[in-house]
Amino acid sequence: MNEFEFDTLAVRAGTDRSQFNEHSEALYLTSSFVFENAAQAAARFSGAEEGNVYARFTNPTVTAMQTRLAALEGAEACIATASGMSAILSTVMALMKAGDHVVASRGLFGSTQQLFSNVMSKFGIETTFVPATDLAAYRSAVRPETRLFFVETPSNPLTELVDIAAVAEIAHEAGALLAVDNCFCTPALQRPLEFGADLVIHSATKYLDGQGRVLGGAVAGPKSLTEEIFRFLRTAGPSISPFNAWIILKGLETLRVRMEAQSSAALQLGSWLEQQARVSRVFYPGLPSHPQYELALRQQRSGAAIVSFEVDGGRAEAWKVVDNCKVMSITANLGDTKTTITHPASTTHGRISAEARAEAGIKEGLLRIAVGLESVEDLKADLARGLALI
Ligand SMILES: *Cc1c(COP(=O)(O)O)cnc(C)c1O
Repeated sequence: MNEFEFDTLAVRAGTDRSQFNEHSEALYLTSSFVFENAAQAAARFSGAEEGNVYARFTNPTVTAMQTRLAALEGAEACIATASGMSAILSTVMALMKAGDHVVASRGLFGSTQQLFSNVMSKFGIETTFVPATDLAAYRSAVRPETRLFFVETPSNPLTELVDIAAVAEIAHEAGALLAVDNCFCTPALQRPLEFGADLVIHSATKYLDGQGRVLGGAVAGPKSLTEEIFRFLRTAGPSISPFNAWIILKGLETLRVRMEAQSSAALQLGSWLEQQARVSRVFYPGLPSHPQYELALRQQRSGAAIVSFEVDGGRAEAWKVVDNCKVMSITANLGDTKTTITHPASTTHGRISAEARAEAGIKEGLLRIAVGLESVEDLKADLARGLALI
């Protein structure tokens, strides 16, 4: 199937029709499978014969989603998981052991950061966090026991980019793997494996579903690695529900169209924000004002759909903008067709100390918008209402 272009793969890869020849992909809501006879049961259990046994291991709907996402990422294989966090957990549990060391970019998704610093540390896996854009810092964080580099690009909420090709080279020189959380761009806008990453991780909860319905996650990469992750998953159990896999499978069909429309709207909104008197700074990789605009052009097909900006003043002024929105949803979630607005300093980054926030560059006047599919004019009007009151 992979001789086809992205758009064809998005709607057709992984389709495996049943005896009924259904056109859309069937949803197999079954936890277990029946065998023809005792010999087949034995062969399936021993692995001598391929086939479904139990849905914690495999399910045809889940397999279809995995096949389609692997095709879109240009990966040999993909393993779906119950959530983005369980994709990260499964990767670490499968590929690392006590005594191993991780180098991770600073400013990771909150739970990812917690997982590395508070959970994995209990099992003897240490993590060094380095500034996302500082290649020398990645290099000097390497230890003899470094096994994994973990990065997210663009970062949340300041849209800092990690140079995937450069970090892949550093990781490989150190004999380590590079995993990239590709949640913000999705394979429609960025394919980390083409830049040398070994694994791509997804919170499918975000843009892959794209409509805020289900939780899901995935890891894509070479079979040699995904098979180890699969062995952990089938034993430990953070498997995805077939229903969620089906929603995500169908979400992938519109992924590129949505990502293009949402990033084009984000670019329009970002350019407009740059012209607003009360806006002091806009963070968007698709704008020439972004310090890594050149890298964005090289690594991403567009600036993606997250725009952050600072308003003059602090928390009171930022909250004024939030509270005057009639269209945008006030929620920290992202990756939906409905635009969301959040004040990071009092929500997603509210529990870290003021000093840590300042060090991370999260100011009190900062707002983050995850642009959806509404009319850009309505979104501008939404923000203009609050900005006029500052
Ligand atoms: C949401 C998110 C996750 C975690 O995914 P869940 O599906 O919520 O478990 C991981 N990384 C990034 C960048 C995210 O935005």
